This record gives sequence, C-alpha cells and structure tokens, in this order.
Amino acid sequence: MDHSGRQRRLQAALAESNLDTLLVTHPPNIRYLCGFTGSAGVLLTGDRGTTFFTDGRYRTQARAEVVGPRIVIARKSPLLAAAEFLAASRIRSVTRLGLESQSVTLGQHEQLRRILKGKWKLVSAPPLVERARMIKDKEEIRRIRASVQLGASLFQIARKTIRPGVKEVDVAAALEYEARRAGAEGMSFSTIIAAGKRSAVVHGRASEARIPPCGFVVCDFGVILAGYCSDRTRTVHVGRPTRSERQMYQAVLDAQQAAIAEVRGGATAAAVDKAARKILRDNKLAKYFTHSTGHGLGLEIHEAPRLAAGQEQVLEPGMVITIEPGAYIPGKHGVRIEDVVVVTSTGCEVLAPTHNELIVV
Ligand code: ZN
Ligand code: ZN
Repeated sequence: MDHSGRQRRLQAALAESNLDTLLVTHPPNIRYLCGFTGSAGVLLTGDRGTTFFTDGRYRTQARAEVVGPRIVIARKSPLLAAAEFLAASRIRSVTRLGLESQSVTLGQHEQLRRILKGKWKLVSAPPLVERARMIKDKEEIRRIRASVQLGASLFQIARKTIRPGVKEVDVAAALEYEARRAGAEGMSFSTIIAAGKRSAVVHGRASEARIPPCGFVVCDFGVILAGYCSDRTRTVHVGRPTRSERQMYQAVLDAQQAAIAEVRGGATAAAVDKAARKILRDNKLAKYFTHSTGHGLGLEIHEAPRLAAGQEQVLEPGMVITIEPGAYIPGKHGVRIEDVVVVTSTGCEVLAPTHNELIVV
C-alpha cells in the first residue's frame, strides 16, 4: 500500500483547505494513511510532519504496521497525549487544527479545547481522508475483488443450507464458519438471512425464525478479507414461485441491470439511482423501494459515495460501489439483488459476476 503517497497528498489537501494540522481520529482513516490496524490511536499530520500516538498495548503492533510517521507510545489516552503534544509545540500565532467531526465526541472536543486553550483554533475539517478513500488504487481493488469472490463462493453454502424448517441463524452460522476457515477476518456486517414475510424487512438480520415451506429468502452478507469488505445480496425462492413473485424478482433484476448500465466515469450518483427507480416505477414497485441504490465500500462497509436521489457526486474511475435495488411489500415479502462494481472510464466491472436469475430451492 502506498502509505507515503497518501500522507503526501493529504498534506497538500490540508493546505488547500486552509488547515495547519489535522487530527485523524477515525480508525479506518488512520489505517488508510499509515497502516495501523489497532483500535487505539490518533494521527497528527501537518506541515511540521506526521506523528502517530498509541498506548502501550500497541507498542509491538505499531512498530510492525505503521509506515511513515514518528510513533509515540503514550502512558495516557492517545488523544490526550496528542493534545498535550500540540499544546507544548512552539507556534507563533493562533493555528487552525482540523478535527474529524464525525468521530470526535462532544466530551473529547471539550477536553481538547481545555488543553489547547486559545492557542489552537479547533475547526471541523472537510472529509479529506474520506474523499481520498473514494478512489481505490490497484492493490485495494485487488483486495476488494478477492473479498467479493470469497463472499460469492459462500453463497453456495447458503443455497445448500436453505430448506424449509431450518432456522435463519443456522444458515448464517454455516456460512460464517466457512468464511473464517477461508481466511476472512470477520463478516463485514451482521449477516442478513430474511425468509418469508421477514424478507420484507430491509435489514432482516438472521433470526431464530424458521424458513417457511414457500417464499423468498433474502441473503445479504459480506466478509472482511485483508482489511477490505465485500457486500452482496441474492434472493432465492423456497418452493415454486408464483407468477407475480417471478415478475417482482424480474423487475428488481431489471432495475439492477439498468443501474449498472448507467455506471461510468462522469455519471452522477443520482443518475444511477434514477435508472433503477424508473424500472421499478414502470413495474408499480417504486413505493416499495425504500432505500438508496448503493454505496461505496472498502475499509468500511459503507463509504462515500452514496447512490441516491439528489446526490450530485460525479462517479470517477476507481470508485467501488454497490448496486442494490430492492422491493419490500410489508407483511408479504421482499427481493433485493446486490453486486459490487468498479467504476471505469467507459462503464464498470462487476466483481464476481454470476448468473442472477431466480434460484429456486
Ligand atoms: Zn448488502
Ligand atoms: Zn450494500
């Protein structure tokens, strides 16, 4: 991973944003910038260099992982140590310290203000690291591809395990066990296995409910492999689907394909969302499509950009996004189909493409 390039580009972005120093507190941002995978650490970066603070538990790990910055092992909380380091630094005039407002708590903010008094002006920084993370480099795309491929292969286990009378959690347990055996560090979110009426619950985490003799089962899960998340949904049908169930599945699939066809460098996120929604509207299912069409993913399961109405974000080659329209009829059933794609200048590449016609088990 090109950690030094990332640190260099961030420094340039800081100057453009009129910030002297940035206090990076969001762990995935720290990992992206310097490689540290632990949970306690802060990274301070500015024109006077980059320093990483962690505590004694991470002494060995930090030495092994961190690329670039000077490492300080703090006796107190890393945030406190970073604040005291700043308070002690010799600066002539009031200096602007950027904070990641999404990850600094009110309590931490008060603590920082107390220690830094009038010397540093605390400002909410624009999402500089998140913006950089939107565009994946070759190595990141390679890792995400491997993660998506592992996730896709685990779908075969779900398919074999899903039978009437089996509990949703047992399907989840079977595929999560295999995920770990295949090298996954964990699941990228709580596995969703939502059967029968529960398939209409958008985030139907696998429950104690048993799979009914007939109906849809939404299977949405992902793994974390070498730090990178995957996310993929397939909806299968237990027993013979009715004509209207087939039509509903086909409409969601058509919506997904229409959205994928819209993805290219230069297209807006809103245009991709609109393409999916149009097909569902034509099929009188628009009001049952209650979430956005997709999201970026990488070190985190949900990253920028968001593919939703009004999102004017322009897609760029190297972005990795999900395309996941769905339709959920409350009390009845639901369908979602989701794939991960890499944006290219002329279109996109679907990672782990498979046939996605309705599977009947
Ligand atoms: Zn998903
Ligand atoms: Zn998703």
